[in-house]
Amino acid sequence: MDGLGGIIFDMDGTLTVPTLDFAAIRREIDAGPGDLVTWISTRSPPERERAWAVIRRHEEHAIREMRLQEGAAELLQRCRRHDLRLGIVTRNAQRSVDALCRMCRIAFDVVVTRDFPFLKPHPEPVRHIARAWNLPPSATLVVGDYLYDIQSGRAAGARTCFFRNPGLADFSAEADFTVGSMTELEALLWE
Ligand SMILES: [Mg+2]
Repeated sequence: MDGLGGIIFDMDGTLTVPTLDFAAIRREIDAGPGDLVTWISTRSPPERERAWAVIRRHEEHAIREMRLQEGAAELLQRCRRHDLRLGIVTRNAQRSVDALCRMCRIAFDVVVTRDFPFLKPHPEPVRHIARAWNLPPSATLVVGDYLYDIQSGRAAGARTCFFRNPGLADFSAEADFTVGSMTELEALLWE
C-alpha cells in the first residue's frame, strides 16, 4: 500500500480471535442502549463499580482464552521487516495488551488503552498515535472488527480496513477496505 507509515490495530476480535462476549456483559450489567462505557459513566458510584467488576471478570476470562487470529504474529513480524510502525487502540485494559504482546512477541510502538482520556469512536486515540509517529493520519491504516474502530479512524483522517469475523456484524460499508483474514490483509498491504 503506497505511502503507508504505520498500522493501528484494534485488539479484541482483530489481532485476537473474538472471545469477549459483549452481549453477555451487557445482560449481566443490565445496561441501557448505546455505548456501554458512556452508559456506565451515568450510573451511581456503587453501580459503576459493580459494572466495571463484571467487565474485568470477563476480560480476565478472555486473557485466559486468548488466541491470536491465524497469521497475526507473522503479519506483525512482516510489518516490522517493512519498517511499518505498529500501534494498538483498544478499549480493553493494559493487562490484556501485555498478554497479547507476550503471545505474539511483538512490542508495539504506541498502545492506547481505556486509560486514555478519549475512547473509540472518538478520533483522538488515532490522532494521538499519528502525532507520536510524526505522520499525517492519512499515512496510517486503522484495522478493526467493529464499527467504532472504523468511525474513529475515519474521523481522524486515517485509512480504514474492516476485519470481518465469521458470524459477527458486518461494517464493511463504512470502511475503505475489508479483509476476512490476515492473509487478505497481507495481500492488501503488499500486493
Ligand atoms: Mg474489536
